[in-house]
Amino acid sequence: MHGVLSRDGYSPLDLVSDGYREVRAVDGVIVNDSVMTTRATSDGFELVTEQGMVATARHIIVATGVRDELPEIRGLVEQWGRGVVSCPYCDGYESTGRRIGVLAASVAGLHKAHMLRSYSDDITVFTGLVEPIPEADRAVLEERGILVETRAVTHVVTDGHTLTGLGLADGTTTPVDVVFADPSLVALDEPLRQLGVDRTNTPVGPWTAVDPAGRTSVKGVWAVGNAANPAALVPTAAGSGATTAQALNAELVATDVAAAAARVAQASSGAPNNVLTDDEPETAGSTVPAGG
Ligand SMILES: Cc1cc2nc3c(=O)[nH]c(=O)nc-3n(C[C@H](O)[C@H](O)[C@H](O)COP(=O)(O)OP(=O)(O)OC[C@H]3O[C@@H](n4cnc5c(N)ncnc54)[C@H](O)[C@@H]3O)c2cc1C
Repeated sequence: MHGVLSRDGYSPLDLVSDGYREVRAVDGVIVNDSVMTTRATSDGFELVTEQGMVATARHIIVATGVRDELPEIRGLVEQWGRGVVSCPYCDGYESTGRRIGVLAASVAGLHKAHMLRSYSDDITVFTGLVEPIPEADRAVLEERGILVETRAVTHVVTDGHTLTGLGLADGTTTPVDVVFADPSLVALDEPLRQLGVDRTNTPVGPWTAVDPAGRTSVKGVWAVGNAANPAALVPTAAGSGATTAQALNAELVATDVAAAAARVAQASSGAPNNVLTDDEPETAGSTVPAGG
């Protein structure tokens, strides 16, 4: 994990276990289960998990991220996150001076080779998945010293562990030290779809629309990280979570204060106290795990 201030090169798995420990230390509850259905109720939301747990909440924050879909090339998935990566902002610097392969899956994906050019003089962009590429694009790549390989890539070559090259359809191998792939991003946004939130067009296709605080079009439903922004990296995803947590808490407190003010007004008018108190208990507790 790179580009995360104070955690450069940290293991993502360690980041997750740090997070578990810190959430539990402040009495947060973590349930390792998949949410299968999410629906609005009269006073909030109900979530049902794969193992049958039911949770209710006044508001929900969806942080379900994305799935990267790689082209079907033998050995690619096995090297994912090691010899095969995708993000120049995450792994570009670490590829300085190395033999870089860019596996473009679209004309737009050719751009990754330009993004990486400042890190290495040895870049080959493999265009077999997008051939024919526009002649103007090819000329600009070549003008910048980027080799264009049009033969189809059939498999990843390793020394048993480390990636060493890409195998081509004609039986030859192009040696490379690292491959930047061009996966399709698929939002794992089923909970948001079930609740019918609005979507907006982005460069990678329709995506959940949020305001700067992470509010979706459905009141009480918020989205953060890659669920709200396909371009979010770890710091941006975490930052959006913090922004949303503040805004959501402000709404809960405002709701509780308004309900209390209404009760005070009712009491001082002498009328019977029949003001709705659905929002209590106040603020902090929003999730009620049943049997979990
Ligand atoms: C190979 C690779 C390398 C990367 N390197 C870097 C890097 O160096 N620096 C950097 O900043 N970023 C890097 N990133 C990007 C980084 O992983 C994302 O920006 C970040 O993980 C987004 O965080 P998130 O919380 O939005 O989503 P995620 O981290 O994807 O978390 C979403 C979680 O929600 C869970 N989930 C999904 N659906 C459900 C459901 N229905 N019920 C319950 N749980 C569900 C998922 O299982 C997952 O655990 C890299 C990504 C990849 C693929």
